[in-house]
Amino acid sequence: MNENKRVQRIVIAGGGTAGWMAAAAIARTLGPAVDLTLVESEAIGTIGVGESTIPPLVNFNRILRINEADFMRATQATFKLGILFDDWKDLGTQYFHSFGLTGKDHWSAGFQHFWLYGRTKGHEQPYDDYCMELKAALEGKFAHLPDDRMNYAYQLDSGLYARFLRGMAEVDGTKRIEGRIARVELDGESGDIAALVLDGDRRIEGDLFIDCTGFRALLMEGALHAGFDDWTHWLPCDSAIALQTPNVHPPVPYTRVMAHDAGWQWRIPLQHRTGNGIVYCSRYLDKDAALDRLLGNIEGEPLTEPNVLRFTAGTRRHQWYRNCVAVGLSAGFMEPLESTAIHLIQRSVLRFIRMLPAGRVSERDIAEYNEQQMQDMVQIRDFLVLHYKVTNRRDSPFWRHCAAMPIPDTLAQKIELFRETGRVFRKNEELFAENSWVQVMMGQGIEPQSWHPIAEKLRDDELARLLETIRGEVRQTVDSLPAHQDYVARYCGAA
Ligand code: FAD
Repeated sequence: MNENKRVQRIVIAGGGTAGWMAAAAIARTLGPAVDLTLVESEAIGTIGVGESTIPPLVNFNRILRINEADFMRATQATFKLGILFDDWKDLGTQYFHSFGLTGKDHWSAGFQHFWLYGRTKGHEQPYDDYCMELKAALEGKFAHLPDDRMNYAYQLDSGLYARFLRGMAEVDGTKRIEGRIARVELDGESGDIAALVLDGDRRIEGDLFIDCTGFRALLMEGALHAGFDDWTHWLPCDSAIALQTPNVHPPVPYTRVMAHDAGWQWRIPLQHRTGNGIVYCSRYLDKDAALDRLLGNIEGEPLTEPNVLRFTAGTRRHQWYRNCVAVGLSAGFMEPLESTAIHLIQRSVLRFIRMLPAGRVSERDIAEYNEQQMQDMVQIRDFLVLHYKVTNRRDSPFWRHCAAMPIPDTLAQKIELFRETGRVFRKNEELFAENSWVQVMMGQGIEPQSWHPIAEKLRDDELARLLETIRGEVRQTVDSLPAHQDYVARYCGAA
């Protein structure tokens, strides 16, 4: 990248969720200091999936000063408090990964240590009883609570979200150009991207380009050949089929992910319909069998034709290379089990804005950006691999393959530390905090062999009081909450 050049003209290639999230955030925070153009092709369209999100999106919308009720109406969103996992540890088992905190924070040791010790003292109540978001989710309840005490995300239509953001970005000065990018023109001297050339030979020049062209990665891979790290040996699923059904029950404030013998299936309730999809490993299940299985496990008649998708788990080796930043599916993709893709778009966009303080970028910025992005990808990858590796399931070739597969050393260390000591540490602003790791590790079947000795410092009556107080507070709060559907209807109905 030519370091002496001021970044004045930013061109975004692609107008899916990634393109419009990037445009809306950059236009709102940097405009009119930068000149922003987005090129998209309606004929090519977008991937058309992406419905379940995680809590940082609430913050992204706040940064953009989006009114939440407007946003929820526009995207048909419901609230999401976590994910219900069926048949992951074993057939017939369930567990919940919630967004909340379980128990209370203590500087020395997570709540699981007190709970584990409590069990030896006859306190047999389930770990789940100490998490408000978890109990609220399973009872179909929701409300905003003072001081953001309810930690939530959304289940939304990401196509509608892109459209909503487009409206904002255009008001904030983004120029939208409709057209198909036919080729990417490189500067003969620097090797940077000089322009996008559209059908009909229209040239769109820029100083910096954001590749949001989805799996095609037209700029980052097609033109710059940044390279791709394939992680299928850790995340073997490579295919999905999505379709929508009407809501046959009131929408619940959680996403459901049901394991099957070669992958898993999602169910995501929005206000007006439910998103369904099957994710599978094509080595163990073919497309027709996957579709049959999906059709056999949906509620109501399909509203849409099946959307068949192929993907490769992994990451672009450089997410910022020369004068091009890849955002969204062009930067890499890990399967949607923990709803991390839209979050990664948000992380990339906000990080990019942070790295562009005065409009001038240096190679050091690029190196820093790539290191931080890669760290996010690796941490999320490990968290996903955990779900496949730690399970008692051996009932199909797919699950036996997962049991036998080697895992990254970083993950092996985390699993063994937890198994031996009940400890989990959050390093380097990791997305998934202690609560997430503990819920998923215990949910998938790890029983820690010990706990922090500080738990034993409590006298028996103190321990009993601590556990009972937290449990009682959770119960009281959840009892006071309205039904999720009523709350959504009231909240979105209020203009
Ligand atoms: P796309 O939506 O593919 O957009 C690409 C854009 O580039 C389009 O506008 C297209 O027209 C344009 N384009 C491409 N080529 C050209 C060209 N030659 N000329 C002009 N324009 C061009 N994420 C979540 O957070 N939660 C989920 O629950 C979730 N579920 C998913 C399930 C599956 C099976 C998959 C595959 C993904 C899922 N995702 C999920 C990811 C999510 O769908 C994407 O991260 C998100 O939609 C962003 O996609 P994108 O904008 O990068 O790409």
